Amino acid sequence: MKTRFAPSPTGYIHIGNVRSAIYPYLLAKQQDGEFVLRIEDTDQSRYVEGATELIEDTLRWLGLDWDEGPIVGGPNGPYFQTERRAIYQEWAKKLLDIGRAYYDNTPSEKIQTYRDECTRNKTPFLYRNFRPESASNAPIANAPIRFKADPKPRSWHDEVMGDLSAGPETQDDIILIKADGLPTYNFAHIIDDYLMGITHVIRGVEYLPSIPNYLALYEAIDLPVPKMALLPHILAPTGNKKLGKRDGAKSVTEYRADGILPEAMLNYLANLGWNDGTEQEIYTKVELIKKFSLDKVQKSGARYDETKLLWLNGQWIRRIADEEGVDALYARTQGFWPDNAAPFDDDYKKRVLSIIYDRLKSLSDLKTMTNYFFADPEIDLEMITGNKFLKKFSEEELSTLLQQTVQKVKDVEWNEDSLQLALNELLAETTKKPAELFSVIRLALSYAPFSPALHLTMDVLGRDTTLARLQETVSALENN
Ligand code: GLU
Repeated sequence: MKTRFAPSPTGYIHIGNVRSAIYPYLLAKQQDGEFVLRIEDTDQSRYVEGATELIEDTLRWLGLDWDEGPIVGGPNGPYFQTERRAIYQEWAKKLLDIGRAYYDNTPSEKIQTYRDECTRNKTPFLYRNFRPESASNAPIANAPIRFKADPKPRSWHDEVMGDLSAGPETQDDIILIKADGLPTYNFAHIIDDYLMGITHVIRGVEYLPSIPNYLALYEAIDLPVPKMALLPHILAPTGNKKLGKRDGAKSVTEYRADGILPEAMLNYLANLGWNDGTEQEIYTKVELIKKFSLDKVQKSGARYDETKLLWLNGQWIRRIADEEGVDALYARTQGFWPDNAAPFDDDYKKRVLSIIYDRLKSLSDLKTMTNYFFADPEIDLEMITGNKFLKKFSEEELSTLLQQTVQKVKDVEWNEDSLQLALNELLAETTKKPAELFSVIRLALSYAPFSPALHLTMDVLGRDTTLARLQETVSALENN
């Protein structure tokens, strides 16, 4: 088993592309095989500086280490197609020599007139119908080399889509080597997959219309056809179209910057269009490697659902904290804290994390959910007086409740248990409902829509800060 991920360095790593890396990786690892990374950079017009590094970085981040490819090298390199020109020339020559390819210098304007003619006659455009009489293997400088198609009915098995077939109209004189001397994807990947010993070619279903041409090429060059698998499209959250940037699909880099954990991203993408037939939703990489199979990849498009991704991410955040410890989760949070957390030491931030992590959906929630642990919140009495549990109280009553709180906790031993006890006693003494008493205290301490359990929040804030904030709100209520 040898699989590959063969991205083109065009800059943006769409999440659909990443799935074309995940499945081959899982399969290779499952069978103790190898996973190759090959950079398909022959389309110079789409080349983006730095895109290869972005691809490498993304794969590493997701834990999809490649056994052969850039950086790590390997016996079948180079792994950049632009460094393999001579190889493709040589294989094109084989086709030229057996009369299955020709140099073609038909100007593009002329090709356009053929197309227009077909459009007028409402017939599909096939270049082979316009193949020049003179088509031959005689070299023409700076002219593309085209395949001489042998159109016929073709049928094949796809590991995901099942048995497929196509008629002769799907095969054409495709370009093998472009005028710039570089190969087309159509030609280069066939040679590379063969030379690199790839056994399973897994790619997006957008390649379906081209497969009959590939089969014709394998036949003409006399190469074994690898097993092939086409992955269904990822669909936009609504409607029936492919997921695009406009549907809010971010690149993997953006998700990473937004605080999505690689475990969650891997889990989510692997399950986008694949499940092992059980209800399981959380998969570690090891479990995915064990359970993945191409025959359980669904044939129809998989709907992209960011809510599900965020839910999974929340699950993973908890899992890491619960299983590996808060320190392990904390190590992942660098860069996700609000700016005002900078002067605080690791221990304090860890304590904040330990009481808030079970509410995080992404690490970037730390930025919006933890501010009041690092700076006094701005007093906003309307948050208190407009609160659904507190509306019925006068400002005086609210102020009294906070003063009673100050009296109750000011001398207790400052730890979770004593604070919990004190708050419960206060509840009994004031005869208020928990939602009422605790809401006013919680708001006075945080002025945030959410905060962790009160005794935990107070414990982390410390006695001085807690008392000072309660007093501040008491004064504000009284001066209102
Ligand atoms: N370079 C192609 C792409 O990025 C790869 C397709 C394939 O996996 O063969 O779409």
